[in-house]
Amino acid sequence: MAKLLEGKPIAEKIKAEIIQEIKSLKQAPVLANIQVGENPGAASYVKSQAKVAESLGVVYQLHKLSQDITENTLIEFIQKLNTDKAVNGMIIQMPLPAQIDYKKISNFISPEKDIEGMHPANMGKIVFGKAKILPCTPAAVMELLNSTGIELYGKEVVVVGHSEIVGKPLSLLLLDKFATVTVCHIGTSKAGKLEEHVKKAEILIVAVGKAGLIKGEWIKENAIVIDVGINRVGDKIVGDVEFEAAEKRASYITPVPGGVGPLTVTMLMRNLVEAAKLQK
Ligand code: NAP
Repeated sequence: MAKLLEGKPIAEKIKAEIIQEIKSLKQAPVLANIQVGENPGAASYVKSQAKVAESLGVVYQLHKLSQDITENTLIEFIQKLNTDKAVNGMIIQMPLPAQIDYKKISNFISPEKDIEGMHPANMGKIVFGKAKILPCTPAAVMELLNSTGIELYGKEVVVVGHSEIVGKPLSLLLLDKFATVTVCHIGTSKAGKLEEHVKKAEILIVAVGKAGLIKGEWIKENAIVIDVGINRVGDKIVGDVEFEAAEKRASYITPVPGGVGPLTVTMLMRNLVEAAKLQK
């Protein structure tokens, strides 16, 4: 039976390190969150993010902008925060109204203040193995793997999902550790080859968003399974992997919820501290 790979204890350990780092800085780091319009989901997320920030000694600024703001006005606002020396990191709260193209406007955040690690300049640094600010979900996955003590060098790792936010940057981080990385995606599934690849994985990471996509019997004996997927099935939240069957075969497995999720906001705060240090 697999050991549960829970995010919370790892997050608590990293938070304690962040608190110490913040104490060593001359000034508390400042995180600016730009929220456009009102959304109940966003409001509760912002509230919990602000609570985490406060518990770590981070100054949290919430900038609420009008629902009908134009892209140009939003870009001007971002540029104002870029030049505001008091602000160390910036995020744009999702969802955004239809007239705003997130990809377009997020590129206006200066790379030094892009604490989500999604700016092309920060993504590019991953290719060169020089990134100090990593996208939060891939960074969370790397922390979960690290907590198992596994040596990634030469390991057969299969990543299912090739999104810009998870699969692609994660594959590069794993490659940087000399893992043998196979990236599966919709093309792999359509070619009927997903099972064949998954069965080879000593480490399997799934980030798709389809409940039950990965069958329990596909899991290699003693594999490490990190399930990034979040799916609502009835009144339950589940991942992309058939958990009950998979946990009988794996050595470690993340629960959903409770695996990757609790770590992502901690990674955001760690990026903020890193950004503040880089801006000194
Ligand atoms: P996304 O942008 O929709 O990407 C999903 C990926 O899966 C795409 O690469 C897609 O390929 C691929 N895919 C779709 N159907 C597939 C299939 N049948 N077989 C193999 N690959 C398939 O989603 P995302 O933002 O990466 O998120 C993925 C999941 O992780 C979601 O459930 C999301 O909620 C969750 N998530 C969780 C956290 C967390 O904190 N726990 C953070 C981020 C995301 P194509 O694009 O080519 O179709």
